[in-house]
Amino acid sequence: MTGRIGILGGTFDPIHIGHLIVGQEVLHRCRLDHLLFMPSGEPPHKQYSEMASPAARAEMVRLAVDGHSQFVLSTFELQRPGKSYTVKTLSDFRKDHAQATLFWVVGADNAIDMKSWCNPEGVLDLAQVVVVSRPGFDVTCVDPLFRQKMIFIETPLLEISATEIRRRVRQGASIRYWVPNAVAQYIASCGLYR
Ligand code: ATP
Ligand code: MG
Repeated sequence: MTGRIGILGGTFDPIHIGHLIVGQEVLHRCRLDHLLFMPSGEPPHKQYSEMASPAARAEMVRLAVDGHSQFVLSTFELQRPGKSYTVKTLSDFRKDHAQATLFWVVGADNAIDMKSWCNPEGVLDLAQVVVVSRPGFDVTCVDPLFRQKMIFIETPLLEISATEIRRRVRQGASIRYWVPNAVAQYIASCGLYR
C-alpha cells in the first residue's frame, strides 16, 4: 500500500458511527488514499479480559467498512503478540510501507493523554498525528510541545462512545443507528455485551 495512508487505532469494542463519521472527514480533509481501522491487540490502558475477543472486534470493523472502497480493516496490531504501543506499531508498519505518507488519527481525548504514551516524540516523528474533535475534550489542553506538530481537524461533535453502546446493550436499550446495521446484528447474534 502506498500514497497517503491514515490509521485510526482503537479497541473498536464495538466500532460505531463516531469512528466512521470522523474517519470520513479525515479521509476527505487530509486527502487520504486509504484509512485503515486498526483494532488494538492488548491495549496498554484497558482491562483486556473485559473486552470482546480480538476476532469479534475485527469482524465488527470488517462489517462496518464493507462496501467503502477507501476504508480498510487492518489486522496489523492483532497479529502482533504483547502490548500494542503506538510507537512500535508505527515503526514496524513503516518498515512494510516505506513509500507511504502516514497519518495517525486520534480523538481529542487520546491527544490530551499523549504525555502518558510510550515515546510520544517518536510517534510524532513517524507519522503526521491528526487530532479530531470529541465532545468534552478541549484540544487546547494538549501539551504545547506536541500541539505544534499536530494537525487539528474540526469534526462534528458526536457524543457517542463504545462504553455507552456497551451500557445500552447491557440495559436492553436500542443501539440502532449508533452502529451500522450489520454490526448491530452481529452484536445481537453473538450475544455480546450482555
Ligand atoms: P471506549 O468508550 O471503549 O473507550 P471509544 O468510543 O472511545 O470506546 P475507541 O475504540 O477507544 O472508541 O476509539 C478509537 C479512536 O477513536 C480514539 O482515538 C478515540 O478518541 C476516537 N473516537 C472514538 N469515538 C469518537 C467520537 N465520538 N468522536 C471522535 N473521536 C472518537
Ligand atoms: Mg476510547
